[in-house]
Amino acid sequence: MGLTGLDIYKLLPKTNCGECGPPTCLAFAMALAAGKASLETCPHVSEQAKDALGAAAAPPIRLVKVGGLGGAAEVELGDEQVIFRHEKTFYHPTAVAVEVGDDLADAALKEKLNYLKGLTFERVGLSYRIDLVAPTYRSGSPERFGQVAALAADSGLALVLVAEDPAAQARALEAVGGRRPLIYAATLANLDAMAELARKHNSPLAVRGDDLDKTAALAEKLAGLGLKDLVVDSGARAQADVLADLTQVRRLAIKRRFRPLGYPAIAFPRAEDPLAEMMEASLYVGKYASVVVVSHAEREHLLPLLTWRQNVYTDPQKPIQVEPKLYAVGKVTPESPFYVTTNFSLTYYTVEGEVAASKVPAYILPVNTEGTSVLTAWASGKFSAESIAEAIAASGVADQVKHREVILPGYVAVLSGKLEEASGWKVAVGPREASGIPSYIKARVAS
Ligand code: SF4
Repeated sequence: MGLTGLDIYKLLPKTNCGECGPPTCLAFAMALAAGKASLETCPHVSEQAKDALGAAAAPPIRLVKVGGLGGAAEVELGDEQVIFRHEKTFYHPTAVAVEVGDDLADAALKEKLNYLKGLTFERVGLSYRIDLVAPTYRSGSPERFGQVAALAADSGLALVLVAEDPAAQARALEAVGGRRPLIYAATLANLDAMAELARKHNSPLAVRGDDLDKTAALAEKLAGLGLKDLVVDSGARAQADVLADLTQVRRLAIKRRFRPLGYPAIAFPRAEDPLAEMMEASLYVGKYASVVVVSHAEREHLLPLLTWRQNVYTDPQKPIQVEPKLYAVGKVTPESPFYVTTNFSLTYYTVEGEVAASKVPAYILPVNTEGTSVLTAWASGKFSAESIAEAIAASGVADQVKHREVILPGYVAVLSGKLEEASGWKVAVGPREASGIPSYIKARVAS
């Protein structure tokens, strides 16, 4: 792209209003040149400057949308700006696709698609699921591939159509009727035909070379043909090679702003054992696939993969939080115990799970500690006697229970005296770990 921070600065309004985040236009220009800012955040930049900035304003890894049309869910890929999460954050979680072979018999196929459609997981207050179904061409019959693609489209999930035969892709693309699936894959052998299909159906196109250099060359050729929504695959399949190539793609796109590889990347874990496949997929979720296509889809295998993905793609500057309000667990009564904790999701849901397991219905009040855990919040003054007392007063718990006793996490027993003074409530010191709640509360109920 060639534009330096100073080149960009010359095109900005130079008013130093600070509305973009950085305090000056020069600082913003430097951030933009480094790929750490987006031109859209300056509301005052002229259309003329936008045109002139061109590639400098584009994200180092293009945002590619799959689905979102014709009733298919939309999946966004790419648009990442950093190599390491702690530098800023990652924006678009790796999409998990599950392969569905077109050689499956109809009954098995429908059963698998129904299963995938209903496959959801709840964790720390969030609901998540797989993102894509990947009809995969094995039958040798373009017609059959088209039928399977149509059935997969009915799942409502976005699609990756895996077939290198343009005739099979053409049938499938007609069958899914404008749902904007990801076409996999253009290769040296079928490039022109696949490019034509992608253009005709307004679909993103994956491109696979025999190695990284050849993939970059093919992507450049497709971009020259006017195809912008690309996804890259270096063609490597051995784990170490895939990892090396994914890392190279990310580094070249972000550090060097190398446009031919400035696209989301797709990976295909190939281990036959389901757990080994999930391990391999986890590797690619961490570094740096935007899509992984797995062949196993049992709940117990997918759950760790999706949990890992959730952890990697959580913004490190914004811990997952629950709303700081009073929660009732089970059939509460005015005699029910009352716990306080913090509003870090992992903390809250751990406490909630243990309270539910104790089978003693209770109220829980997660105090707003900006998503930090008990000890961290206490150390930083966010979980203090005063803040807890204020939260208790504002929660309305006094209208729900007859008693005036609050159970405090054992780790902050030191707050007991001050909290009694500040709140007027009697303080009972609970267990240090949430896992101690069932035995703690049962002992109290029995006494
Ligand atoms: S918002 Fe635009 S004009 Fe204002 S400081 Fe940022 S770059 Fe300059």
